[in-house]
Amino acid sequence: MVDARSLPGSLLFEGTRGIGKQRLALWLAQLLVCESDERPCGVCLACRSVLELRHPDVFWVYPRPRLSDANATSEDVIADLAEANAERLAKRGLYARPSGSDAIFLATTLTIVGKAAMSPAMGHRKVFIVGDAERMVAQEGSDQAANAFLKLLEEPPPDTTILLTSSEPGALLPTIRSRVISIRCAPLADADVLAFVREPNVKAVLDSLNLPRADADRVALARCAPGDLLSAAALSVARSAAVSLLRASATRGAERYAAALAHGSSGARGAFSDTLAELNVLLRERAESSLAAGDTAGAYAAAKAVIAVTEAQARADGNVSPQLTAAALMNALQNVPA
Ligand SMILES: [Zn+2]
Repeated sequence: MVDARSLPGSLLFEGTRGIGKQRLALWLAQLLVCESDERPCGVCLACRSVLELRHPDVFWVYPRPRLSDANATSEDVIADLAEANAERLAKRGLYARPSGSDAIFLATTLTIVGKAAMSPAMGHRKVFIVGDAERMVAQEGSDQAANAFLKLLEEPPPDTTILLTSSEPGALLPTIRSRVISIRCAPLADADVLAFVREPNVKAVLDSLNLPRADADRVALARCAPGDLLSAAALSVARSAAVSLLRASATRGAERYAAALAHGSSGARGAFSDTLAELNVLLRERAESSLAAGDTAGAYAAAKAVIAVTEAQARADGNVSPQLTAAALMNALQNVPA
């Protein structure tokens, strides 16, 4: 379609989480801005800039924690994404799924609309990639911004391509869905996943995570979606953090607060949200097992703790310190059966 100049202006890549839809979108972006005849060549300045996530005309957005400044500007959005991109680059382009509270907020949508109105800075074409597009949030009083984005999707400028990706296309706003051409991406064959986990850069990152050592076990765990390997590792980290919070709550004094302080003051909010989500799962399990064992007091304590954790989850979506929230939770957790 690119060669025939018939590529639609707005596309949606949909398919199972973790199969590489955003990677595919980045590859297509590279192809669209490549300066060689054999596209994407991978070696021209444009190609290298895309691969290093610093091409001025390729703008990749994805769910992020809400910025602390309620009046965040495009500069704030761009600085936040630059920081997140640097983290992704440091992990060689591998990243876990965004945490539950991360989203694509209004300031980010406005940034896309603003950038789309400008001329390309380096080449002839601009590409916008919106990963996990179902996490674009409609906000009160933002009708004008939402309409500007819909208009952009419906009729992108001739020099602009917009690529959305979603693993939950049913959750996309219908107004968005009706304006894009959808392309289904299939899960990967095991042979492809095996090649992926054996790739030296990928292997180096996977080896640093809490994952099975054997390639075959990693392929089985990935279940045709290698990106989920990183989420599985993140989940097991969150699970052990939740278990240690619960254990520490049964102790007194220093040990208890050391466990709370381990949660960092800021910048770790995504991981903390994951820990709270796991803590909730853990508490529900405790409530059920206590009931089954006839320990009604234990079940009651666990159920009450679920309420406290759910409230903490709501606070964690705002700009609170994970340390303080964890310390405050300790009292609510202390009577839960270990
Ligand atoms: Zn190139």
